[in-house]
Amino acid sequence: MDTFNDFKLNNKLQDAIDELGFTTPTPIQSEAYPVIRSGKNVVGISQTGSGKTLAFMLPLLNDLAYSTQLSPRILVLVPTRELVVQIVEQIELFTKYMNVRILGIYGGTNINTQKQAVAQGVDVVVATPGRLYDIVIDGSLKLKTVKKVVIDEVDVMLDLGFRFQLNNLFELMQENRQNIMFSATMTEEIEELIGEFFIAPVQIAIALSGTPLDNIEQSVYEVRNFYTKVNLLIHLLKDKEEFNKVLIFVSGKRNADRIFEKLTEDYSEELGVIHSNKTQNYRFKAIEKYEEGKTRILIATDVMARGLDLDQISHVINFNVPAFAENYMHRIGRTGRAEHRGKSILLYKEAEVEYKEAIEELMDMKIPVIKFPVEVEISTQKTPDERPENYVFKNADRNAKKDVEAGASFHEKKLKNQKTNQGGSYRREITKKYKKPKTKSGKKGSKK
Ligand code: AMP
Repeated sequence: MDTFNDFKLNNKLQDAIDELGFTTPTPIQSEAYPVIRSGKNVVGISQTGSGKTLAFMLPLLNDLAYSTQLSPRILVLVPTRELVVQIVEQIELFTKYMNVRILGIYGGTNINTQKQAVAQGVDVVVATPGRLYDIVIDGSLKLKTVKKVVIDEVDVMLDLGFRFQLNNLFELMQENRQNIMFSATMTEEIEELIGEFFIAPVQIAIALSGTPLDNIEQSVYEVRNFYTKVNLLIHLLKDKEEFNKVLIFVSGKRNADRIFEKLTEDYSEELGVIHSNKTQNYRFKAIEKYEEGKTRILIATDVMARGLDLDQISHVINFNVPAFAENYMHRIGRTGRAEHRGKSILLYKEAEVEYKEAIEELMDMKIPVIKFPVEVEISTQKTPDERPENYVFKNADRNAKKDVEAGASFHEKKLKNQKTNQGGSYRREITKKYKKPKTKSGKKGSKK
């Protein structure tokens, strides 16, 4: 389907889409629309920024008739409060001319206010699983009327430990509902979830291009160790005009905290951090300040940053090299959005060479190297995992895929281990993945 007109949307939706200036559906939108409208269960592999919110909401909203019924018919589950707010805002834009009641439900705010809102009647609920479950258990909201369930960012959801709440919520719904799921990656745990609750899902997978966006200027620095990376970071950030909106990606919340602490000395007023050990409220505020330009620098772990729809980031700085090349693509994709030019900087140390090469192989290009500035001090301070006596190679295989949110020392051990054990085969693995975008569960699906 080449244009939104091919979707034959109802006039109210079409008018709103026109007003937003959207003319061409994104690939995930074209693929998802007919399948979701057909009522089949759907598993979509797609990243934030691909237009997936509209991909699942358009077909659902198009078929949503006006109703005065109190309990909801569409439920969208997302992992974080930030995403609830973002998705509610998006749906409100599309439904400008429709008579649809949309409600966001999330923790960290007054539950009674939310119960009162629920009691007014609602068509579409967008919620985080924890708070929703509290409201449902208490009898304030009934899920029996839900006919369509979307679970968005499932990988993040499971990473945050929401499996239990998801199971409980599923138990409270009618079986004859349509299940739609979106995830950026496929993991065994997600497959398990699908196997348990999804009957004959159709899989939609849009291949993530191995070619980075043209409007992102990439560069790389070779750096001795963790604290020298910190020194370099402090040095770069001095140029406030050039580095005017910076997102720093770090694997592991302990590392995120370490960097935050160090940068606070110079940049406390301009700095924020988000990772999964911070409360929703804290994260929400940190993102808000960053978005409003009150802070210039945001440190984030991969999982936490994935759902963000941030605008006009001048630089993405990869403090570490992600163990999965696809995560690098996700990260740098946060800049250079919507016609703006963006820059991406990768800092790597010796132990990360293989990961850097894997990324370059995936993109089929070498990232231009910038010479380490002479004026930056080489630190002799070591993180616990940089001390040789602490290299313990355990659990590496089992956890190799859990690059995100792993603890600092664990992450480094894993890097070291993968380097010795997996090098070439890991590269082949990801190359295969990108040349042939097929996930394990793709075999089950009737469509790719
Ligand atoms: P999402 O992946 O759903 O977070 O969407 C990313 C951004 O792209 C949002 O700001 C959407 O409003 C925008 N968007 C979604 N679909 C389209 C489209 N077909 N054309 C232009 N922009 C779009």
